[in-house]
Amino acid sequence: MEYLSTRGEDHNTTFEGVLLNGLARDGGLYLPKSWPTFNSSEIANMQGLSYHEIAALIISKFTGDDIIYREVADLTKATYENFTHPEVAPLKFIEDGLYALELFHGPTIAFKDYAMQFLARTFHKALSKSGKRSVILGATSGDTGSAALQAFQNLDSIDIFILFPYGRVSPIQQKQMTSLAGLGAHAICVSGDFDTCQDIVKGCFNDHYFRDEVNLSAINSINWARLIPQIVYYFTAAVKLGAPDQKVAFSVPTGNFGNIFAGWAAKQMGLPIDRLIVASNRNDILPRFFENGKMVREKVHQSLSPSMDIQVSSNFERLLFELLERDAELCALKMKEFASTGFFDVSLGQLKVAKEIFAAYRVDDAKTTRRIKFLYDHYGMIFDPHSAVGLEAAKAARDDEVVSKNIPIISLACAHPAKFPDAVENAIGVRPELPQHLSDLMDRQESKIDIDGKVEAIKELIFINKRN
Ligand SMILES: *Cc1c(COP(=O)(O)O)cnc(C)c1O
Repeated sequence: MEYLSTRGEDHNTTFEGVLLNGLARDGGLYLPKSWPTFNSSEIANMQGLSYHEIAALIISKFTGDDIIYREVADLTKATYENFTHPEVAPLKFIEDGLYALELFHGPTIAFKDYAMQFLARTFHKALSKSGKRSVILGATSGDTGSAALQAFQNLDSIDIFILFPYGRVSPIQQKQMTSLAGLGAHAICVSGDFDTCQDIVKGCFNDHYFRDEVNLSAINSINWARLIPQIVYYFTAAVKLGAPDQKVAFSVPTGNFGNIFAGWAAKQMGLPIDRLIVASNRNDILPRFFENGKMVREKVHQSLSPSMDIQVSSNFERLLFELLERDAELCALKMKEFASTGFFDVSLGQLKVAKEIFAAYRVDDAKTTRRIKFLYDHYGMIFDPHSAVGLEAAKAARDDEVVSKNIPIISLACAHPAKFPDAVENAIGVRPELPQHLSDLMDRQESKIDIDGKVEAIKELIFINKRN
């Protein structure tokens, strides 16, 4: 399996290069040179296989000779063994034609675990092979950081440093990051906002001497290796509802366009997906794009679904590259235009192609709250605000007949309701409880390092704290 960059100057990279580099050297994002596929009988044969077995089938299509099928199978077994539900990603019936795909049965109870737990093991395997060590540095607005620290702690080839903005992550998210007792995992509290954190990370990566000295790596969602494990649950869910004979649609709460792009990849691989519903909160850059083909950056607004408070959907570059029929030069041009002016557009023909599969909806906080209450009142089910954005968009798509009657909609439940208890309690008057393995979370001891927003301070801190 070979990979290329959406900006054309970095090609013939193998899986391991993609994994460890994260971002291509030309600033683009990696994609497989061609999409691997499953035929109908191969998809039918997935019926009755367990989650980690299907995961091994799918992931090994992308790892090529770097990690052979047997090794991938060992990794997926070890990865998903620790999840708290035997089905790993259970599908819950809500009403006729509507299901919720629960993606919060990993250690930090948001869907990021499904990829991060696999990524950590794969990173460690790749580094161990070459006897190398690595420092992972990232910034988080909440869920990514907790999933990453939890997954990468206690690996002797890796030290991980995650920056979070003081007072801007929820108390639960902060505790999940700061209460880890694992070796080599550091939660760093920065006085400043998320952008300050991200600027520090960029500053460290741009210092090439420092970067090489500590072998710096990134694990944010532009790393293709993080999207691969997310393709798996699209397959397991669709197969449960009768794929390949039955078509399905998915509604996906979206911020960085990562999770939903994994759905698009599943379709390229042969899964009969009729529609992908892009569910945004009030930060509606994607719904606006799908209206008129113009990507226009605006200010970020806070919402009840903070993990989707994003105006630049980094992974959209992958879809853009495909819409441009893989014209990397043009893709690079448009992305550079967007970086400098906050604007790019596609032709009406290209927009039409995108709209054959995608439909986009904007869901504000009031609608989100009403949806949480409706689902609780009618079905006794409690959803977190991100999941509710997806379910509201699913309802709208059904009402608009964007998805026809005989096609079930699977809406992705991206976080456990107890991860966002205030919004849920506001909607239904009931405070959701943390699952058993986290029930004492808020009483756990905190350990964090506080710094101001200076790049030099972080570099020094990494030098002092990294193990050799
Ligand atoms: C990360 C996250 C999202 C957004 O996912 P993207 O892949 O960035 O589109 C939505 N909901 C929750 C709970 C998340 O943690």
